Amino acid sequence: MKPTFLITSGPTREFIDPVRFISNSSSGKMGEAIAREAVKKAQQVIVISGPSQARFSAKIKCIPVVSSREMFEKTKKYFSKADIIIGAAAVSDYRPKNYKKQKIKKNNSFLNFNLVKNPDILSCLGKIKGKKVLVGFALETHNILNSAKKKLKTKNLDFIVANSLKSIGSDKTTAWLIDKCGIMYKVENNKNILARRIIDESIRIWKNNKTC
Ligand code: C5P
Repeated sequence: MKPTFLITSGPTREFIDPVRFISNSSSGKMGEAIAREAVKKAQQVIVISGPSQARFSAKIKCIPVVSSREMFEKTKKYFSKADIIIGAAAVSDYRPKNYKKQKIKKNNSFLNFNLVKNPDILSCLGKIKGKKVLVGFALETHNILNSAKKKLKTKNLDFIVANSLKSIGSDKTTAWLIDKCGIMYKVENNKNILARRIIDESIRIWKNNKTC
């Protein structure tokens, strides 16, 4: 039996007016590499992708989205089909409270707007995951490993991939795979090698139906 993968990838955008948005920095390269590795070993690969330069082969079902809420809706829609879910997207945590239908004029020196929190996709899935394998990412500027360990628990993940700011936009990365028992692997290599490790580890957990 081969697993079906559901992967979130790239950034999401939250529009302030028709031309301006807030977003997170993400090239989509990690999601692209994970999908490329997954397709070699999967029954099916479904990618919910925010706007990025990432390209997915015809063997991958790619669903383009723009906002975090759209990503959430599509991820929920395909959740039941998936055996392994990998959250590689840099989801915008906040969106403007009020969307302006007309382009905002730059008449003032300051512009204030309120932001409201978006749903945390992986946290929601963590509550209903059952026997599905759930993998997340944590990109941090400091206290990388401790923050990642906290997110592993709060989001109820099987393992988390912790990495630093240097990974953004780069083909290379330094990352740690961490499960409830601690660090499993440190990978200092290109994103394809990290992607292979993530896929192999998630399949191993799915087959054995247990982490550490
Ligand atoms: O932003 P944060 O550090 O909490 O991201 C950790 C993990 O949670 C990542 O895998 C990311 O894709 C996921 N996430 C999510 N929905 C959010 C925020 C993050 O699924 N709103």
